[in-house]
Amino acid sequence: MEKERRKRVVIAGGGITGLSAAYYVDQLCTAHNVDVEIVLVEKSDRFGGHVHTGKRDGFVIERGPDSFLARKTSIIELMQELGMENEIVGTRPGVSHSYIAYRNQLHPIPDGFMLGVPTKWKPFITTKLLSVRGKVRAAADLVLPRKPGAEDESLGQLLRRRLGDEVLEQIAEPLLAGIYAGNADGLSVQATFPMLQETEQKHRSLIVGMLGVRKSRSPKQQATPSPGTANTAKKSMFLSARGGLEEVVNHLEKALISRALMMKNTEISGVVQEENSYVVHLENETMLHADAMVIATPAHVAARLLPHETIANLLRSIPYASVMNVVLGYREQDVGISLNASGFVVPRKEERTVTACTWTSSKWEHTAPKGHILLRAYVGKYGRDHTNQQLSDDELISNVRRELQEMMGISAQPIFTEVNRLPLSMPQYQVGHLERIGELDAMLENLMPAVYLGGGGYRGIGVPDCISQGKDMAKKVLSRLMDARM
Ligand SMILES: Cc1cc2nc3c(=O)[nH]c(=O)nc-3n(C[C@H](O)[C@H](O)[C@H](O)COP(=O)(O)OP(=O)(O)OC[C@H]3O[C@@H](n4cnc5c(N)ncnc54)[C@H](O)[C@@H]3O)c2cc1C
Repeated sequence: MEKERRKRVVIAGGGITGLSAAYYVDQLCTAHNVDVEIVLVEKSDRFGGHVHTGKRDGFVIERGPDSFLARKTSIIELMQELGMENEIVGTRPGVSHSYIAYRNQLHPIPDGFMLGVPTKWKPFITTKLLSVRGKVRAAADLVLPRKPGAEDESLGQLLRRRLGDEVLEQIAEPLLAGIYAGNADGLSVQATFPMLQETEQKHRSLIVGMLGVRKSRSPKQQATPSPGTANTAKKSMFLSARGGLEEVVNHLEKALISRALMMKNTEISGVVQEENSYVVHLENETMLHADAMVIATPAHVAARLLPHETIANLLRSIPYASVMNVVLGYREQDVGISLNASGFVVPRKEERTVTACTWTSSKWEHTAPKGHILLRAYVGKYGRDHTNQQLSDDELISNVRRELQEMMGISAQPIFTEVNRLPLSMPQYQVGHLERIGELDAMLENLMPAVYLGGGGYRGIGVPDCISQGKDMAKKVLSRLMDARM
């Protein structure tokens, strides 16, 4: 009898999604006694993709993501499995507020705003971020009728309709769309903040609905620790890793090194379909045979790799914004102002280069040595990302420093600066995104069975979402390989 050939799974892209997929394919196949060869192919000279931490002189510098939401537990589970539970850190206690820059001044985000919706009257009435007219318009949400139907619309459309232009432009857009470096009028509410649409459907008024949510979150519930997190991190809404998020990547790499073929500096140039399998072409002219594939590259790269034009067209319809960030390290004594908050965001109308600034060392104790300050200013937004890309590092740093001086009053000379350019790095979940992803899944299943797509461009941009997608794809790979054995 012919001996069954060992199955091979090829994973394209060694970012957090591809690494998680590789890790869980290995775990699941081992648990189910499925003999499999895992090949992880990464174009660059390192694994981790956007999860990238730099270290210098006691500073921990995140070039991509710096934290994750504590309520999204896939990353906590993974860190526990990797023996990293003691590495999980929370934000400094008491540093929960942040600011909005408006006309050269930083204004505290009014207490009680939830997903851009006011739920406390006094801070809403007294904030200088909104005019009287803007406040009256927002209060109209209490009486406006519900929009019939539950089709997707933009985040901007929904919030303008319910709360008016001012609340959207001054408060909600920089906070919510800022996460995607996006434009609220283009982002799908269903793919980004579905709770807003659900609240309107259920309560009609966003204010009434969110008020109910706030009241239902008793102080006891709010303090519920994420399972497995260390004491210090227990009450934090955001968590990170003491040595930087790249530590998760390093641990994954270590866990996989003897279990998978880990190829760096190797670019996949295309995938050709055979009867029941795939041939993966590499830039170095070699080929790999694959029984199943995980494609964990950005969507615009996946579009180039896959052989079906219909699939490629859908993938190309997911746009990406190019962003940059400028990291600045200071001696505390030079700065001379107290930074006891997590930072600020800048509304689009202010027309600044800086779209937001994290006061990194105020928020995260582990990121700067004693007596030092670390800031990270973000530059670039979807639709407004081209001009800044043309600037040299020196020009960019100079623009950022001028704006930080105008908005924060910091004129001190930094002890170091670093510019991180991240071209086409922030996927934009445009209106209809979920429908397109559904179509994409159906097409793949039909045209390219055993090929699975996942990552920041598809079903959640956050690092925990990417890990969940990696795990889900691993389950599908396992089930495919088990079916093939029968
Ligand atoms: C500036 C910034 C800040 C962010 N902040 C946060 C945050 O604070 N919290 C949070 O949860 N999320 C944050 N995110 C989002 C999160 O970091 C990303 O969604 C996530 O890291 C994406 O991971 P990924 O593996 O899907 O993709 P990527 O990280 O893009 O990895 C894809 C990999 O594929 C490789 N590749 C590309 N083409 C090929 C090819 N042809 N062959 C082989 N390999 C290829 C790439 O080199 C890369 O390593 C942030 C993102 C950015 C850009």
